Amino acid sequence: MSEALAEKAARLDAADELAKARDRFALDDDVVYLDGNSLGALPRSVPQRLADVVEHEWGRLRIRSWEESGWWTAPERIGDRIAPLVGAAAGQVVVGDSTSVNVFKAVVAAVRMAGEGRDEVLVDASTFPTDGYIAESAARLTGCRLRAVAPGAMAAETGPRTAALLVNHVDYRTGRLHDLPGTTAAAHAAGALVVWDLCHSAGALPVGLDEQRVDFAVGCTYKYLNGGPGAPAYLYVRRDHQPRFDSPLPGWNSHADPFGMVPSYAPADGCVRGRVGTPDILSMLALEAALDVWEDVSIDAVRAKSLALTDFFLECVAHCVPRGRVECLTPARHAERGSQVALRCAEAGAVMRGLTSRGVVGDFRRPDVLRFGFTPLYTSFADTERAARVLGEVLAAERGA
Ligand SMILES: *Cc1c(COP(=O)(O)O)cnc(C)c1O
Repeated sequence: MSEALAEKAARLDAADELAKARDRFALDDDVVYLDGNSLGALPRSVPQRLADVVEHEWGRLRIRSWEESGWWTAPERIGDRIAPLVGAAAGQVVVGDSTSVNVFKAVVAAVRMAGEGRDEVLVDASTFPTDGYIAESAARLTGCRLRAVAPGAMAAETGPRTAALLVNHVDYRTGRLHDLPGTTAAAHAAGALVVWDLCHSAGALPVGLDEQRVDFAVGCTYKYLNGGPGAPAYLYVRRDHQPRFDSPLPGWNSHADPFGMVPSYAPADGCVRGRVGTPDILSMLALEAALDVWEDVSIDAVRAKSLALTDFFLECVAHCVPRGRVECLTPARHAERGSQVALRCAEAGAVMRGLTSRGVVGDFRRPDVLRFGFTPLYTSFADTERAARVLGEVLAAERGA
């Protein structure tokens, strides 16, 4: 029976059109890496590019590189490479700062843009914590009340006093995919603006920012976009909002004439307004090289493989793991599933240590969740079968002990 699953994995891998992308990453044959939803694997194009940046652009050209090596324009240039992955036309995505900082910019700017009498911000009740902390401060600064609402109830809860909504596209804990088109349309119908956090969806599934008329979006680049630890985040400002985008962090890099060094602030045109200070060039250019892995890759193909991987993982878990030992927190319906599987499991911390020591790397979220991230560019069906099989072995060994 488990041989049948191994054979099925081999068949699925042989038919996988994205299998070629796996060679674009530095991976170990003896490790199944299912933590790319926390820190994406290293693309092979990065080390050499980073060495060139350090030795040539910084080491030799030094200050000249701001212009000659294109450092100054990197935030928008790299934003334009992320744009197609999130369904945005060029000129609307700027790279820099962390997701946390971009959440702050977007929420404050959204409240400032909302009409008179709107003094409420809704935040996803199950949000990744940093978004909630930042939204609370942004609301306090702008004189708004913050209300935590389940993402599924946001459409109904948005009212005439709602200025802005901040929602995670995919729940980082359970892997639940929220209804971006429906929530965005309902918010707009009620006159509010929406900020989507794409940390767990960009690079894993189609987002459709322009098509859905999303107002603002933020996301990190070190998860499914493989930009490296602490890689800069991005901010999407819809084109027709850009002239009214009033940043709460108007640093000199977002000035219309940054080298005019004038005392009064005048914002640049376009998404450049989302910038703050001097960008982290080394991380930024590592990210740029990392984005090479998306060459010839369609996000629809990524989504199809992601769902096939998570379906297959659940099938293997049902076969390998004693009934009742784990409970799946990730929705079964494809329309509600991101690109990870979260299993509630007693002694989850010890179980994840057991998995890691046997070469299967996922992560543990307190108190009792095992998370397995599926990154279609480099996760194979054979990896998936092995992860479930080893999970079964770890749980069986624990019972025998
Ligand atoms: C990973 C993640 C973050 C991380 O924010 P940083 O500022 O990069 O630390 C924020 N929000 C969500 C939803 C995330 O998944």
